[in-house]
Amino acid sequence: MTEYPDLHLHIGGAWKKTASSQPVLNPSSEAVIGHVPVATRQDLDDALEAAEHGFKVWAQFSPRRRGEIMLKAAALMRERSDEIARAITLEHGKPFKAARLEVIRGCEFFEWDAAEGQRLYGRVIPSEPGIKYIVHHQPIGMVAAFSPWNFPLSQPARKIAGALAAGCSIIMKASEETPAGAMHIARALHDAGLPPGVMNLVFGVPSEISEYLIPQAPIRLVAFTGSTVVGKRLTRIASEYMKPVLMELGGHAPVIVCDDVDPVEAAVVSAVRKARNAGQVCTSPTRFFVQERIYEAFVKAFAERARAVVVGDGFESSTEMGPLANDRRIKAMETLIADADGQGARVLTGGKRLNRPGYFFPVTVLADVPDCARVMREEPFGPLAVINPVSSIDEAIQKANSLPFGLAAYAFTHSAQRANELAERIEAGNFSINTLEASVAETPFGGVKESGYGREGGTEGLFNYTVVKNISHSMT
Ligand code: NAD
Repeated sequence: MTEYPDLHLHIGGAWKKTASSQPVLNPSSEAVIGHVPVATRQDLDDALEAAEHGFKVWAQFSPRRRGEIMLKAAALMRERSDEIARAITLEHGKPFKAARLEVIRGCEFFEWDAAEGQRLYGRVIPSEPGIKYIVHHQPIGMVAAFSPWNFPLSQPARKIAGALAAGCSIIMKASEETPAGAMHIARALHDAGLPPGVMNLVFGVPSEISEYLIPQAPIRLVAFTGSTVVGKRLTRIASEYMKPVLMELGGHAPVIVCDDVDPVEAAVVSAVRKARNAGQVCTSPTRFFVQERIYEAFVKAFAERARAVVVGDGFESSTEMGPLANDRRIKAMETLIADADGQGARVLTGGKRLNRPGYFFPVTVLADVPDCARVMREEPFGPLAVINPVSSIDEAIQKANSLPFGLAAYAFTHSAQRANELAERIEAGNFSINTLEASVAETPFGGVKESGYGREGGTEGLFNYTVVKNISHSMT
């Protein structure tokens, strides 16, 4: 029941091993579960050639035919969801149930984009008699895409689905730490009859691959999800070659809890959401600003629910939260908690790595955290929540907007007036009221400020993968 797939590159429709590989670890046990092949320069050249050929073929497919292949691949992934979810739990650690939900979410990206790709309408602009102006959306061309380790299937799915629906070919460099999700997408597309070269999958040394691929002339778009530091580096390279980028970067999501809601209900929902994917989500609710009147009740209920979160191996049915995905996250947690503790924050629960093999860390709740603590500025990207009181909605908005990030933000309120004011003034690409869900297949997702630019999902997401051509046609 816990087999892990044999890992390959997928180039020009063929599976490939290479001379060199690197180990993949199970974060629950730290045991080696597989080896991911490391692409050579020749492999990258082969992928470029294959994607160039793939683009020529795919661009000639009607949107309906493209959609049919994408839907078939999604159906295959749904059929294989248990098998794929097992591989994700092995390489990432998240609970099996959550891994299955991730597979379904990835399928939804394919299904929604497959349909929306048939509706990338242009415009006919009213003009003088005898001339016609037509605005046409054409596929942008070959895409170089880079996806991270936190959602091994749904992260690459979003980029691959967008590119394919718009008629582009893609070279996907997925995470070397969690490679099986992307490999399963390649397998499903291959089995669904995707022409060779339309989707190519490589792994290797991330900086070497991005620095080699981005400058290549046929690459027309760079799509990246990951940290702001790396996003800026890739954007700098792309800008030298005047290439557009799609950047989904870090966040540090604020949650404003107004005093017209039940503090216990809001706290319980928030603590459960904080544990999702062990907090390793760019939209994870992290900085809680709670109005003074309900502050203590909120803090108490949040800490109680966080303390009760069952942390364990993802294959145990009682597990609510798995381990962190790698030891870098453990170090990040420990550093931020020690710093906040030293500056006078109250550590209400958690705070220390669990004493067992694997990268297990409990949900940690800090209250009364001074603004000078690092965790108030640095994204923890782990199961860490900070809760502070605010005396007014104005103060909450000012604090929420005080960072250079603006990806997801949340509020709890039953007042239409407050909800409206918050929605207007919060600086974020995604703002959710009375729900901690930030993005679904049909809505655009992305950031403002240093959280990146461009959108994934929704109609807006597909337009990233197109270029506008204006056609002026004189008929006189
Ligand atoms: P990191 O910055 O080293 O890497 C982040 C991701 O980018 C990884 O998948 C990595 O393989 C890739 N990457 C790194 N250098 C690259 C390069 N030069 N070219 C192409 N890809 C490259 O950090 P990390 O330790 O892996 O992750 C921690 C940080 O990354 C977190 O603090 C978080 O902000 C961010 N992150 C964000 C997301 C997200 O969904 N936005 C996902 C994962 C990680």
